[in-house]
Amino acid sequence: MKKYEPYIAMALEKGVDDALIVDTAKIFTAPWVRMKCRFGCLYYGKKLCCPPHTPDHKETRAFLDSYKHALLCHKHWKKDYKVVDKFNSSIVDLETTFFLDGYYKALGLGMGPCTLCKSCDASGACKNPERARPAMEACGIDVFQTARAHQLPIRVVRTHSEERDIYGVVLIE
Ligand code: SF4
Repeated sequence: MKKYEPYIAMALEKGVDDALIVDTAKIFTAPWVRMKCRFGCLYYGKKLCCPPHTPDHKETRAFLDSYKHALLCHKHWKKDYKVVDKFNSSIVDLETTFFLDGYYKALGLGMGPCTLCKSCDASGACKNPERARPAMEACGIDVFQTARAHQLPIRVVRTHSEERDIYGVVLIE
């Protein structure tokens, strides 16, 4: 898929470790994922990019199936939350580039809770809708299964400060 090569190069230039074009049928969803948000995450209901404001696994499956290809991005994270912000920003930049190049359906999903504002008024409208995107997991995507289906690294971490692997995706067309 030569036509996507410039976007893979752009992702790598932005510091992503792996960027590959995947079939959206191999981006997996599951009902358990948002249960982990609902029971166990501090941000549940507190951010407009987090559940219950985000699509559930059934809605996500339906919108994933309205695409054929996506750019799956991976980065190994080491103890610096700014890296996560930069990674999520790169996903939105890639989405914008695809869109302006004519891929009118382009849509990015990042990782983790949105950090664009100091506080998020989840009872109102998003203050930064052009840059705010939900995480893959916030939409019911099983990131572990998706990463492993593409032979990419991911594992359970035991502490908040431990190194880990982070993922984002841009749905293309
Ligand atoms: S951009 Fe601001 S208002 Fe929008 S979801 Fe993120 S933190 Fe909330």
